[in-house]
Amino acid sequence: MQQLLSLLTLDEDRQNIKRLILFILVAYLFSIAVRMVWVYHFSGQDNIMWNDQLMLNTNDGYLWAEGARDILNGQQQENDLSPVDSPPSKLTALLVSILPFSFETIILYMPAFLGSLIVIPIILIGRSLRQTRIGFIAALLGGIVWSYYNRTMVGYYDTDMLIIVLPTFVLWALVLGVTHNKNRYLLVTTFTVLIYQYWYPGSFSLNMGMAGILFFYAMVFDRKNIYNYKLLLFVVIAIVPIVTAAKVLISFLLYLFFHFSKEKSDKTVIPLFMVSIVVLLYMGGLDPVLKNLSNYVFRVETSTSSELSLHFFNVVQTVREAGNIPFETFANRISGHPITFLLSTIGVFLMMIRFPVMTLAIPMLGLGFLAFEGGLRFTVYAAPVNALGMAFLLMVMSKFFNQQLHRVMFLSLATVAVLYPNVKHIIDYKVPTVFAKQEVQVLDKLKSIATREDYVIAWWDYGYPIRYYADVKTLIDGGKHAGFTNYPVSYALTEEQKVSAIMARLEVEYVERAYKKGLGNNTFQYIMEDYGFNDPNIFLEKMKKKDFKLPEKTRDVFYYLPLRMLDIYPTVRLFSNLNLLTGKQYASPFFYQTNYYKESGESINLGKNIIIDKRNNTIRLGNQEVPLNTLYVTAYERSGKLTIKKQLFNMTAPISIVFMKSYNKFLVLDQQTLNSTYMQLFVFENYNSDIFEPVILDPLAKVYRLKK
Ligand code: MG
Repeated sequence: MQQLLSLLTLDEDRQNIKRLILFILVAYLFSIAVRMVWVYHFSGQDNIMWNDQLMLNTNDGYLWAEGARDILNGQQQENDLSPVDSPPSKLTALLVSILPFSFETIILYMPAFLGSLIVIPIILIGRSLRQTRIGFIAALLGGIVWSYYNRTMVGYYDTDMLIIVLPTFVLWALVLGVTHNKNRYLLVTTFTVLIYQYWYPGSFSLNMGMAGILFFYAMVFDRKNIYNYKLLLFVVIAIVPIVTAAKVLISFLLYLFFHFSKEKSDKTVIPLFMVSIVVLLYMGGLDPVLKNLSNYVFRVETSTSSELSLHFFNVVQTVREAGNIPFETFANRISGHPITFLLSTIGVFLMMIRFPVMTLAIPMLGLGFLAFEGGLRFTVYAAPVNALGMAFLLMVMSKFFNQQLHRVMFLSLATVAVLYPNVKHIIDYKVPTVFAKQEVQVLDKLKSIATREDYVIAWWDYGYPIRYYADVKTLIDGGKHAGFTNYPVSYALTEEQKVSAIMARLEVEYVERAYKKGLGNNTFQYIMEDYGFNDPNIFLEKMKKKDFKLPEKTRDVFYYLPLRMLDIYPTVRLFSNLNLLTGKQYASPFFYQTNYYKESGESINLGKNIIIDKRNNTIRLGNQEVPLNTLYVTAYERSGKLTIKKQLFNMTAPISIVFMKSYNKFLVLDQQTLNSTYMQLFVFENYNSDIFEPVILDPLAKVYRLKK
């Protein structure tokens, strides 16, 4: 052990403030410069720009943008779900009002400039250990490492831009306190924890984890040091669920007390700490931790309503993030390469042996490694810790070189080698923007047609962008898409026009009523009960009857039907293609689309073993040969008018084909899918004029208004 320790011991590396600032600046600028690769790649592509700026590449960003826009305009609508009180929206509005850049420019670059701040706490952690250069090398890596880059790249405007920066600052504050035992560092802890908490209310578990580890650390390594209990006391005060102002005041008074009456105050630390623990437990301190654990580790289903009698589609089934991930992906995301990952993990453990205070990073490390079980999005928590481990290992290895020059050369080359796979990933990671300019033009036009109280029916993927660009209300969005909220929208988009319109009107009117009565989001249940039904299937039948009475119309309802919904149609359908009484799915619809096809004399090969036989008008689906119902050819004329040619072969046949000539696209679909509102309104513009009225007909997205 002694030998190992002496092997791991490095020369103290105290740098003056000027050097420290230089290190921070270099790492920060490096982190931002690398992020400009994406901008460089897409710059000048007018079709993905809006207001002379590239658009966002994450859907969720449009939520915060909506909030910021409403803050700046000083208005919002009741129940519009605009997050005007959220920290990201407030920060954005502040930046827009003080900086000389456009709104679009600020939201585009905020993640790069805020996310790159991660280099500061990483370097400061190194400095607290008197190893500033380790901090510097770690910061170069930590700023751009794979998963961290993905979630803080230019255009990835989301809470993520500070979600790792802030706990890393907390970690720094704790390391600083434990290492140097100065009273003023207690307040640094308070403020870092409070800011983290403000930005991300879900921070509670990680803060608790760090407090727990700090306690453990104090017990094992430094039981007699009263400072550790002071630090713990300050962490606990910062996370107790009470008003922030009270926490600041209490912390400040305690700091003064500790600072000015050292003798007396030392005796009170332990009792005060115990009181704070009791208060924390009393206020439900452990509840969120337990809840999160059960959600992510054990995947316990938490039902939102205890008396849920209907069986809606379970969204967890379609969320990719919740799945297990292969080791290589996991390793790449944490360190950029499996070898780097193994080395950096070894480095982390060695670093904990040399600097036991680094055990305080275990909660972040643990959360990152949870990804292996709980889903991709957690990997990013381990990234800064592993970056420190990697830098530590390199520094230890550099000891084997006797000459200073050789050491520097080794460190430089090794750092480049560690950075390389990450930079390569960044160069190859060409995430497109969420929307194309033409789609935004449709929404911008809709903004001038619809009022702010009107609703737009659209799949949840488009919810936030629709609200941002058109300033309307939506039923579902990136944050509101449980099985029961998706059901009515799925129904409206994938059932035929008459019932679609009824469902859309019902849902919109009852969503507003439910908000006003505080009834939660399970509107369909509320609708049924209000109409006096218990059985959803009987209610759905009743809806189709002529005498079904619609609620009073209070606003307009629009349908937003984009071309890109073709890609997700089967998923959209899933949510309403089931028996609500039993939860059992009905037979899956047949739907296939392709842009790749090969035409020969007698057949058209559509790929995936699907071949149209032109001689006898059948279609081969694998081994099956199925007669064709109808062949449609849609095409835009020069004037922009959509024309449809139709060739009926067999009225009772189950499958039809659509050739969307102007899109160079084939659709193969069953009759139910063909008759769905989405297909009829988007693909054919074949709307029932008693029910719908076209508002905007763009080849990329079409908007209709409900007449009733
Ligand atoms: Mg609004």
